[in-house]
Amino acid sequence: MLRRTKIVATLGPATDRPGELERIIQGGMDVARVNFSHGEADDHLRRIETVRDIAQAHRRQVGVMVDLQGPKIRIEGFKKGGITLEDGAQFTLDTELDSDQGSENSVGVTHKSLADDLAAEDVLLLDDGNIVMQVEQVSDNQIRCRVLNGGVLTGFKGLNRLGGGLSAEALTEKDHADIRTAALAQADYLAVSFVRSREDVVEARDLFQAAGGEGGIIAKIERAEAIDHVDAIIDAADGVMIARGDLGVEIGDAELPGIQKRFIRQARESNRIVITATQMMQSMVDSAQPTRAEVLDVANAVMDGTDAVMLSAETAVGKHPAKVVKAMDRICRGAERHRVAFNHRVDARFETAEESIAMAAMYTANHAQVAAIVAMTESGATAKWMSRNSSGIPIFAMSPIVATVRRVSLYRGVYPILVAADAMGTDLAEQQAIRELRRLGIVKTDDSIVVTKGDLTGITGGTNSLKILKV
Ligand code: PGA
Ligand code: MN
Repeated sequence: MLRRTKIVATLGPATDRPGELERIIQGGMDVARVNFSHGEADDHLRRIETVRDIAQAHRRQVGVMVDLQGPKIRIEGFKKGGITLEDGAQFTLDTELDSDQGSENSVGVTHKSLADDLAAEDVLLLDDGNIVMQVEQVSDNQIRCRVLNGGVLTGFKGLNRLGGGLSAEALTEKDHADIRTAALAQADYLAVSFVRSREDVVEARDLFQAAGGEGGIIAKIERAEAIDHVDAIIDAADGVMIARGDLGVEIGDAELPGIQKRFIRQARESNRIVITATQMMQSMVDSAQPTRAEVLDVANAVMDGTDAVMLSAETAVGKHPAKVVKAMDRICRGAERHRVAFNHRVDARFETAEESIAMAAMYTANHAQVAAIVAMTESGATAKWMSRNSSGIPIFAMSPIVATVRRVSLYRGVYPILVAADAMGTDLAEQQAIRELRRLGIVKTDDSIVVTKGDLTGITGGTNSLKILKV
């Protein structure tokens, strides 16, 4: 059986080791994430090229997701590497301090108007919540705090306000440049960090398209404000990422499980993609196997219907990138053996022919003896509608467009097949699909498959027919 849930893995120094990329591609990475919060654009471009070369050599379609840094607010540096903060100590964030002048008493911050957004009693979380302090007094350039939870603090760690509300713009100057790089690299997805509203998503899409980008936009839900505007954000984006790292810091970790489950459901119901991200297998940065809690975390996201689960530090800087991908593959498959029905759109009215055909195909496939579904699709839209339903039957998206077959690599239960443009929609394409399904061991003689297609090829949204073929 093919794994339905997709694996997104972050590239980094650990995957630069000889043979490592090849191992994680063979191990099941479906989408490679390059994280523009770290490293140089040239390194990212080189990694993207290598992924595509290796994928091609293995006849695999691997998507590429460029993840923008966004306006992550950070403290600046210390004179010496770091400091130790005692519980109860006083500490000042000083927006006018030079970036290398931090001390036991104060440190600079990257967001120069931070003082405008803060008031006494606000709670600040540094280094993903490892250090907690409460604001006591705010002046023009100084935020005087009391340390509630101390510890070791080194330079350039992240800074969040519990409850959100820091006013930094979603797209920084660096993001603008990185969006152009993403377009140049023909990224299949652009992940936009710290979006607050629909407008942030639209702006990122406009910039990406203006630079020639064709990929989908993934809105990262990681700011408290995004929760209030989530309907509009989901609507404006192609998918969302539940970015539990920053989100947990902003809304408090106790809110995460409810939010994660709600947004997975809401994204699916809105015909959008959803990625569950951050610390899913964190212990495997060092350890050769996941904890039971991590196994259950990954499995729960799978059982709730996430399209993809994501690895961050585990593959980018961890000791065992290939082992993590394998473990994730194993856990996803295990969870998928216990299917939960999503009953998608049972009560909905279908608005387009392609949605109607997609739903009819899933109903047929789930209720007849069918080994596979083949959607001949220009844009992948029909396959996406199909994959919002629960089904144990694999969905093959067959398209002549490279960008499409790479994009569907993120859709749950959908597998790409690239077809020659002139064969599209003809018997030849059907024969190619059957050959490919045989090669993969999905069908054998006398099996039935469901095929959907349009009368006209070369146009998007043209799917209007469904047929059942016997192999
Ligand atoms: P990041 O986003 O890894 O870019 O910070 C994910 C998260 O915040 O969870
Ligand atoms: Mn984040």
